[in-house]
Amino acid sequence: MLDLVNIEDWLAIDTKPLVIAGPCSAETEEQVMDTASQLAAIPNVKIFRAGIWKPRSRPGEFEGIGKEGLLWLQEVQKEYGLKTAIEVAEPKHVELALKHGVDILWVGARTVVNPFSMQTIVDALKGIDIPVMVKNPINPDINLWRGALERLNTADIKKLVAIHRGFSDYRESIYRNNPYWEIPIELKRNYPELPVICDPSHITGNPDYLGEISQIALNLEMKGLMIETHRNPQAALSDAFQQVTPAKLSKIIGNLQTKYPTGSPDFQQKLAGLRARIDHADHELIGNLAERFELVNEIAHHKKEHQITILQLERWKKLLENRIKKGTDKGLDKAFIQKLFDLIHTESIKRQTEIVDRKNEG
Ligand code: PEP
Ligand code: MN
Repeated sequence: MLDLVNIEDWLAIDTKPLVIAGPCSAETEEQVMDTASQLAAIPNVKIFRAGIWKPRSRPGEFEGIGKEGLLWLQEVQKEYGLKTAIEVAEPKHVELALKHGVDILWVGARTVVNPFSMQTIVDALKGIDIPVMVKNPINPDINLWRGALERLNTADIKKLVAIHRGFSDYRESIYRNNPYWEIPIELKRNYPELPVICDPSHITGNPDYLGEISQIALNLEMKGLMIETHRNPQAALSDAFQQVTPAKLSKIIGNLQTKYPTGSPDFQQKLAGLRARIDHADHELIGNLAERFELVNEIAHHKKEHQITILQLERWKKLLENRIKKGTDKGLDKAFIQKLFDLIHTESIKRQTEIVDRKNEG
């Protein structure tokens, strides 16, 4: 459980979805002010983001403009009435952000991953009443994310938001960071009172997919979106490939459909019916799995009796091919079938190993 102040009470913004927009990095006063003036004209945008200190993978890349940029953000507040949000990664960042009246802080994925760094930020924030948004850690580990939120909450930071920005993955993907939607869903299950917003810019790394990822986030009841926006994305000094112009952002927002957590009685009735059928299908699925693994047990005993190796690669290859064909013929996704049968196969090998290695069987 987190001890939180309701977001509606501390953020007097009721646009749905709530959109946080602004450049990956503050670069020049002109770039910040021009981008902010265009964003202020978009009704959903009430919070302006900009990186002041940038965590870069390699030295020599643009590492942020530093504290000078905080003065530009003060101008953004004054000129356009937008709230401002920046990333903090060190106590010094916290101190300067507070001194310059930044409205909201966020902790980046590379910081959340390190409990030592998290704790230094928490210590710097102790006793200070400021909203903090916490990005998910780089790697798909929900406990680091929860740990960061809990640490902040222990220091009496009660205005918390989680930002889902996807997870680093060694596999090839069309996205820069794999969304692993089940992780933010689990976070919401753990902390139903915690608002979660989505950062589709860092998930996709590609403006072409921003709309679809944003829509999925809204379908999952996420409260808002953080989208990197630059007046001239190609010229951006960081994350140039994934930023959009304010005009493109406005189009993306315009195409989003608002979803409601509850609906009319008719809708509810139909939904309940469909859910009942899902329950039934799952019941059958579990029965089939149990039966399959009974057969695996029998095979293991049979192989043990005849001292045959557990892993039979040829058989496995053929089986997988056949299941993928059957699955795709039925309209199932190939990668999904592959993943499912990989999982079944791993479990099957594990069971067989246990049976074959068991010494004094009764
Ligand atoms: C950012 O928002 O610009 C950023 C560096 O994000 P993340 O921590 O998610 O990589
Ligand atoms: Mn960025």
